[in-house]
Amino acid sequence: MSFSRSYPAILAVFLSALAAGAQQKPAQPPAADSLHAWVQGSGQGSDPAALEAWVNARLDAEKADVAKLVAVTGPRTVENTLRPFDDAQNELAIANNNAYLTYSLADAAPLRDKGQALESVVSSAATDLSLNQDVYKALAAVPLPGNDPATRHYLERTLLEYRLSGVDKEDATRKKIRALQDRITDLTLTFGRNVADGMLTLKATQAELDGLPTDYIARHKPAADGTYTLTTDAPDEGPVMSFAKSAALRLRMYVTYNSRAYPKNKQVLLDLLTARQELATTLGYAHYADLATADQMIGSASNVQKLIDDVDKVSRPAAEREYAKLLAFAQKQQPGLASISQADAGYWNELFRRSQFAFDAQSVRPYFPYDQVQAGILKTAARLFHVSFKQVKDAAVWDKSVDVFDVYDAAPATNGKLLGRIYLDMHPREGKDKWFSSAPVLPGIGSRQKPEGMLVCNFSGGTAGDPGLMQYSEVVTFFHEFGHLMHHILGSQGEWSGEGGFNVEGDFVESPSQMLEEMFHDTTILQSFGKHYQTGEVIPATLIAKMNAASAYGRGRWLQGQLFASSYSLQVHNQPPASIDFDALQEADERRFSPYTPVEGDRFYASFTHLTGYASNYYTYVLDKVIAIDFFSQFDKKNLLDGPTAMRYRRAVLEPGASKPASELVKDFLGRPQNIDAMRNWMNEEFQTSAVAGN
Ligand SMILES: [Zn+2]
Repeated sequence: MSFSRSYPAILAVFLSALAAGAQQKPAQPPAADSLHAWVQGSGQGSDPAALEAWVNARLDAEKADVAKLVAVTGPRTVENTLRPFDDAQNELAIANNNAYLTYSLADAAPLRDKGQALESVVSSAATDLSLNQDVYKALAAVPLPGNDPATRHYLERTLLEYRLSGVDKEDATRKKIRALQDRITDLTLTFGRNVADGMLTLKATQAELDGLPTDYIARHKPAADGTYTLTTDAPDEGPVMSFAKSAALRLRMYVTYNSRAYPKNKQVLLDLLTARQELATTLGYAHYADLATADQMIGSASNVQKLIDDVDKVSRPAAEREYAKLLAFAQKQQPGLASISQADAGYWNELFRRSQFAFDAQSVRPYFPYDQVQAGILKTAARLFHVSFKQVKDAAVWDKSVDVFDVYDAAPATNGKLLGRIYLDMHPREGKDKWFSSAPVLPGIGSRQKPEGMLVCNFSGGTAGDPGLMQYSEVVTFFHEFGHLMHHILGSQGEWSGEGGFNVEGDFVESPSQMLEEMFHDTTILQSFGKHYQTGEVIPATLIAKMNAASAYGRGRWLQGQLFASSYSLQVHNQPPASIDFDALQEADERRFSPYTPVEGDRFYASFTHLTGYASNYYTYVLDKVIAIDFFSQFDKKNLLDGPTAMRYRRAVLEPGASKPASELVKDFLGRPQNIDAMRNWMNEEFQTSAVAGN
């Protein structure tokens, strides 16, 4: 998904980014449910001390596992060394997931603050483990098992991560690394919090709301002087950028939205990049981008640059043609218009789509009321992945709006086997994280611990009288995030907690979900749940065809936008931070990858949270799109859900989780490494579709 609308799983960051924090003694005895903090009343509205006690109990268990593995005398084995190591990782993951969950989802601010503080404490414990030389030496002494590729891969990858943590360095260097990692974690959290808390408001006159949907205007009540107050939160911001006829309002919203963490985050970002650069040089790398790609599928920063240049070649001609058409269209409406600005791009693209494809994004919303979409996505996923979902009405949850489902296998040989549990927290509420994401709740360990995951979204609906009519793009986001959950559940059935679906290389993790996005152009799938919320009419095939033609328009621009973000992320991480002018670099990258005029005062980078979560590795979206399109090209377009490819895909790509390198998962399914051919065809598909639709 585009970086402005979807916030992908970031949990790995909190486990690998590490922070200091004074750990206190548990205030209460360990909780009875050692897997779910909120069950003990440390969820909504309860005492932060209870949460702290719960997390500390997990950390005590982790320390006991570490002590057990270090104390082994005699020959090292998988069972006496790797097993307790994985148990320790499991405790850290559970503690981290629950702290993160509380930080991002709890209603009460003191509880959220405690969740955030505990995340630092857990990260600090993870740092202890990742820099523990005794553990490293113990793991390195375990003979690599020859007949168990999954375990062998786990051991090899773990040892690589240890070396990337600098564990083989001398004491003073390790101390320095530790201090830098603590600093990086603190700055990362500060940056994110400044964005999350940085809601700004702006005033609009009634006339300026012209063009916005009726239900949007109805949600906002005018003040005594007749003005309306809009916020920079997604439900207020998005429609203004697409539908508001007033260029002045769009510009004001654009600048305000991108200023919500400025100027605070400019210095935070500089400090963060400086700490990262120092960490990289301490570990023997020239720049942070080299360090950050060393354990990724792509392998090196120079390969990232090559990917950007390759995809640039494939997407640039399409992007240029798209812009020429868009500008010509806008000039007809507004004679004398010389160029289109960043702030006006969304508006003109929406108008162009409507005119060119006779398609209005508003027109499909009545077919996608929230509850119907949720049911439809569960049904679609069930068929595609050969699973079934059973709602658990009495499950303990952190908020009463959360839906819980158990996931069962529906594949012939293993039909009825419990695979795991999912939590859907789908609507906004006060204090809740404002993005769209999926995250693990529990890792899976064979039959001992079933994986659990959650979706955290902010779709409309969920309150009485509001059907929650969704934009098509929101429906796609839902399925995308749901794909991460399914990868987690299906891919976390192995014996190691550290080899689940979320544990694949960071630059592969988006591929399966991006592949799913391609499926939601299919008429049969969309008609299976797209029904008018008042009349029950099935969404017409002609409307879907128009919508598809409209959404295929802009693929060139979209990819170029991804290249902009990839390039910016790479460039702030492959040169000395002190020499970087964030504003000048943003403008230079915009001029290379965007035809739109840069906007004065656009501080995009100050709220570009991927710079903390993904650091130099935003390219992952581009690489994953290349792979996703390649994956999708293998499916029978006439029978997406029920053909044999779906099961073959589940077995080859999802089920192995992280038990082998992603490059092997790709090869196992495609029969060859990924290449850029399918993406080139995908770009051409855009030309055919728009040529037909444009007639
Ligand atoms: Zn994603």
